[in-house]
Amino acid sequence: MRLSSKWNRRNFLGSVGVFAGSVLAPRKVFSLNRGATGASPKNKTATVTGFGQSGNPYEELGVTTVINCEGTMTVLGGSLPHPELEAVMTMAGRHFVPIAELEVAAGNRIAQMLKLPDGYSAIVTSGAAAAIQSGLAGILTGDNEALIRQLPDLTGMKSEVIIQKSHRNPFDHQLRATGVKLVEIETQDQLRAAVNERTAMMHFSNFANAAGQIKVDEWVKLAKQYNIPCMNDAAADTPPVSHLWDYANMGYDLITFSGGKAIRGPQCAGMLIGRKELVANALLNNSPHEDTLGRSQKVGKEEIVGMVKALELFLNEDHDALAKEWQSRLERISSEITKVPGVSTSFFTPDIANHVPHMQITWDAARISLTPKEASKLLRSSKPSIAMGGGEQRPGLGMNSFMLQPGEDKIVAERLSRILRERAG
Ligand SMILES: *Cc1c(COP(=O)(O)O)cnc(C)c1O
Repeated sequence: MRLSSKWNRRNFLGSVGVFAGSVLAPRKVFSLNRGATGASPKNKTATVTGFGQSGNPYEELGVTTVINCEGTMTVLGGSLPHPELEAVMTMAGRHFVPIAELEVAAGNRIAQMLKLPDGYSAIVTSGAAAAIQSGLAGILTGDNEALIRQLPDLTGMKSEVIIQKSHRNPFDHQLRATGVKLVEIETQDQLRAAVNERTAMMHFSNFANAAGQIKVDEWVKLAKQYNIPCMNDAAADTPPVSHLWDYANMGYDLITFSGGKAIRGPQCAGMLIGRKELVANALLNNSPHEDTLGRSQKVGKEEIVGMVKALELFLNEDHDALAKEWQSRLERISSEITKVPGVSTSFFTPDIANHVPHMQITWDAARISLTPKEASKLLRSSKPSIAMGGGEQRPGLGMNSFMLQPGEDKIVAERLSRILRERAG
């Protein structure tokens, strides 16, 4: 492992100047130390010695970094924060502050920036998954301290959450973690029959809108009709930016977003947006409060401040220009790889979740003897390593370009062309 990582690094430095330059250049970081006078130095930089001095701590640990053609995947580290965000997070690390008060202030700023409806606020959580769990916990316990300590024992509380069968997904583990039972329904009639005095909440998975019989606007109307709080998990559903306020305007009581995906906030941050009282009760079930279910989902002062900054940066971005840039990166890769006889590409944008330009890459199996799985493996083991898998259940390889760094599209085009050419008969 150690040996191979040395080789990785050597080849990495030798073969790809542009990329290596961009990764290895930054050796200065903002100093966390106060000066000898006790004054807080502003944006003072320090030279790193020891661990981190190469500019790439991952390589120093022997873990190979990848060129990310898959998008905002938590298993690959989510997204890369804006440099301005790093600077503000460093400032946040220079002071002590009452965290619960900071959460309320950050939430108010978020509500203001998003122009949320009256009576709505937000908190920063350690991710959308944490927002799901603490949002539901708050509904179950209210502000009752004894009940907050008691979770996930639901004695004396409501105990069921209604969800459409097609909306079940791995993140409903965070609902189940509170102790509730999920009641699956498919039709409006089944929903009506499922509602009872134990029903705590109706849950909606935004990405599954097309799959379920009851759509996003209808679900919230029915919840109001039955007087049941209603949550929408929209974790990965920006862009478009408008999704950040659409579901609050639609009437959802709680909405969750990831901070560490397309918003490019801190990796361990997300938002719970919703009605003030529900958001306040969610915070009571969350860190920094002890003896709570959410204490294990600590979000730091740096992440709370970073989330606010990330949102500001995200809202001010030219999203049309970004989408054009992402599309042109794909087209540059396409024009290279389609020079290989038998290779073709097509473009699509998923309606919801990862709503960014994607490219599907297919080839004539009679001319190129390579399966998409093999191609993916070869890309991953190439130097530099490229992460690219199958795309959105379509044949061939699929990729998007919104997590690529400058110059990486060239590397991807060159590697993929070479791999395909080598297998051409
Ligand atoms: C990513 C994701 C989550 C979890 O978000 P984190 O911010 O990583 O906690 C929850 N639900 C869906 C649908 C997601 O895509």
